[in-house]
Amino acid sequence: MMGFTVRMSRCRIAMGTLAILLLASSCTTGERPVLAPGLDATTTPPDPETTEALVDDDGDRTAAMLDAGPVRALITPTGVVVPVLGEDENGYRIVTPCGLDGSIVWGTPIHSARVALDPGHGGEVETGAVGPNGLAEKDLNLDVVKRAARILEERGISVVLTRTSDYRVPLAVRAQIGNELDVEVMVSVHHNAPTANRSPIPGTEIFVQLENEESRRLGGLLYEEIVSALTPFDVSWSTAPDAGALAVINENGENSYGMVRRPLMPAVLAEFGYLSNPSEAELFATEAYLDAASLALADGVGRFLETEDSGSGFVDEPRRFSPGGGTGGANGCVDPALE
Ligand SMILES: [Zn+2]
Repeated sequence: MMGFTVRMSRCRIAMGTLAILLLASSCTTGERPVLAPGLDATTTPPDPETTEALVDDDGDRTAAMLDAGPVRALITPTGVVVPVLGEDENGYRIVTPCGLDGSIVWGTPIHSARVALDPGHGGEVETGAVGPNGLAEKDLNLDVVKRAARILEERGISVVLTRTSDYRVPLAVRAQIGNELDVEVMVSVHHNAPTANRSPIPGTEIFVQLENEESRRLGGLLYEEIVSALTPFDVSWSTAPDAGALAVINENGENSYGMVRRPLMPAVLAEFGYLSNPSEAELFATEAYLDAASLALADGVGRFLETEDSGSGFVDEPRRFSPGGGTGGANGCVDPALE
C-alpha cells in the first residue's frame, strides 16, 4: 500500500512560538526539521506564549532537545498523536492513525510518558455503544480520559492519549503509541452494552492480562476505585454475573481483547458501566459522573504507580469469549488531517 505522506516546507528559523512556526511553513531552505518542545501530555495544546522552539539560528536541534532523547511520538499540528519510528531527511517517520507510513516535519515531540490512556472507539463509523439518550460511547470515553489525564498531569504524572478527538484509530496503532513510548501502564476506557442483569452495584468490569500479576493489580485497583466512586449514585445498575477484575480469553487461550493483548506493559481494558442501560446512560451524561469516573481512573492509576496496594474485586476464573468481526482493524479507516 502507498505510504501516506505529510510534507510541509522546512524553515531556517528559530521562532519563539509554535504558532509562528506553523505560520512560517512557507520557508523552503533545507535545514533540520523544526519541532516545538515536548509536552508530556496531549491534554492541553501548546501555549504559544510559553512555547519555545528548540532549534538554534541554523535550524539545528539545540543541546536541550538532543538531551531530551529520541522522539518516540508526536503531537501533530492538528493535535493528533502519532507513533514515531525514526528520523528521515525531512523530519520524522511516523505511523498515521490508520496505520500507514508517513513523514512529518512539524509537531510537538513526545519523548516519554508514564501512562497511556486509550479512549475506546472513535470516528464516524466506530462509535462504540450508543445509549438510549443518544450518548455515543466514543465521546463519553474521550471525555473521561481527558479529565483523568488532566488530573494525573496536575499530580506530576505524565500521560499520553492514543486518541485526542473524534477520529478512527485501529487497535494496533493505539497499542503502538504506548509501546513506542514504553509507558509504565496503559488503560483502555469503555462503556458497555448490551444490558445484562439488574444490580444494586455498578457492573464495572476490568479485563486484565492473563497471568500478569501487575495487570491484575492494576485491574483490582481500578475496580475498587470505580465501583466505590459510582455506587453512591442512585441509579438502577446492570451487571454480568462474573463482573469484577478478570481475564477474558479466546479459544486459543490468549487474551481476547486487543487492548489487553497488544500492549507490552501492564494494561487493562475498563468497562465502567452499561451505556445501554437507560438509567446509567442518563447518569453518564452528567458532569457529576464525568468528574467521579475520571477521578476514579486517575486515582486507580496513581495508586498503581505509587503504592503496592493490591486492589479488590478479583474473579479468578477467566471468562471465555472470542470477539467476532471486531471493529478495531484498519478496514475503511480514514486518516484525520495531520497538518
Ligand atoms: Zn467500547
